[in-house]
Amino acid sequence: MLGTQERPLRVAVVGSGPSGFYAADALFKSSLVCTVDIFEKLPSPFGLARTGVAPDHEKIRDITRIFEKIAGHERFSFHGNIEIGTAMPVSLLRKHFDAVILACGTEISQRMGIPGEELPGSYTAASFVGWYNGHPAHCDFPFDLSQEVAVVIGVGNVAIDVARILCKTVDELKHTDISQQALDMLAESKVREVHVIGRRGPAQAKFRDQEIKELTRLADCNCIVRAEDLLLNEASERELEEPAARRNMACLREVAAHPSDPAKRRQIHLGFLMSPVRVQGSSRVESIILERNQLQGEPFRQSARGTGEVLEIPCGLVFSSIGYRAIPVPGVPFENRLGIITNHEGRVIEDGHVVPGLYTVGWIKRGPTGLIGTNKPCSHETAQKLLEDIAALPPCEVPDTAALLRELTSRGARPVSFDDWRRIDAAERARGQAVGKPRERYTNVNEMLALLDEPAG
Ligand code: NAP
Repeated sequence: MLGTQERPLRVAVVGSGPSGFYAADALFKSSLVCTVDIFEKLPSPFGLARTGVAPDHEKIRDITRIFEKIAGHERFSFHGNIEIGTAMPVSLLRKHFDAVILACGTEISQRMGIPGEELPGSYTAASFVGWYNGHPAHCDFPFDLSQEVAVVIGVGNVAIDVARILCKTVDELKHTDISQQALDMLAESKVREVHVIGRRGPAQAKFRDQEIKELTRLADCNCIVRAEDLLLNEASERELEEPAARRNMACLREVAAHPSDPAKRRQIHLGFLMSPVRVQGSSRVESIILERNQLQGEPFRQSARGTGEVLEIPCGLVFSSIGYRAIPVPGVPFENRLGIITNHEGRVIEDGHVVPGLYTVGWIKRGPTGLIGTNKPCSHETAQKLLEDIAALPPCEVPDTAALLRELTSRGARPVSFDDWRRIDAAERARGQAVGKPRERYTNVNEMLALLDEPAG
């Protein structure tokens, strides 16, 4: 009997972001006896809660305390520095676990798919966010901040994070846990004007009013919205029934009515009803061509349609911030159009049939939407389906994690346990304390592993 003291239900979770931890929590809170082993590509846990949330949003980052508590459960294990794929195929996990939950998230930015997108100076929000957060894969990215004008495509919360970090002063950032390398480069940044561009109107913007209010409080930057950009068609007026849209419009109208401060060095312009057409430049970004749009369709389903009128914004930097996309997991059915694992309510589906013992949660299950807390009900739903399926689940062949870890180690892996992570965490906090920051992150995996090889104490 799976789920008993004699034979606990063995679940492997791939990915240690919020959805992975919430899935573990839901299983621990069930009436069954479960063990949960979380496997993570990086030596550090917490996914986007560590490498996605902006460093100046400390309160949101505090969510990791909840995950630390979950990690304290007696039947929880963390195995960092192990990547799903060739070294550890899903089939190997399934040999050692009764069920596998894929919580790998969405790692890459959606591409705009326009000419010139690959020019030097045109970047994705995912790499910029990873860069300022010291993500080992992005921390060395050579962003060229010697440019004065940047254009950010997209009006979601990530676009606002990118604009805000570009426009904050060093004093506003130096006591956060932003990577030191990023802070040093931002200190030298010449960026003084950032245009954040939405393809639809202000009533359809995905950012929250809090994020815009924050832009109005920056020390050396004005937030500018033109009143004429806030005129709404009839369908958009109807959309103000929705509280978030209503709050956004009220906030934007206040911003538009507020005169900008000429003493401030930087400006963030929020613009709407424009789509990117092409990025121009001979050897690097020199400008972006946008087409003006109008909205068409029913309220709440309006889409942007080009009017044929184009305009050019001379700029040296372009950031596309139009959402994220998952990387397919080898051997797991993937819906390319939606960029998610093929699933129904968290059960993985192949050729129309449920794949027994294989589940998914979070952004790779439903797409990159919602706040961190949205993952809780999403993970709960999947855990519930898993528990409903338990009677039909064939127990795994080799219920032995130590055997799996021996096999992975023999292939060259160097797993990082949660206790190992606690050492890294303590060292990061100590390094931060020395410079007045909550932590100074290790941005290099080898550095983290070298720390673990030092004698403890
Ligand atoms: P998002 O909220 O989905 O916003 C994406 C933006 O890109 C939208 O404005 C979208 O416009 C636009 N877009 C999509 N395709 C486009 C295209 N081809 N051309 C031009 N524009 C295009 O995505 P996100 O900003 O990456 O955020 C992801 C999730 O993380 C969201 O749920 C967000 O709330 C959350 N998040 C929260 C915080 C926070 O709480 N502070 C911070 C960061 C992220 P349409 O609306 O027209 O599609």
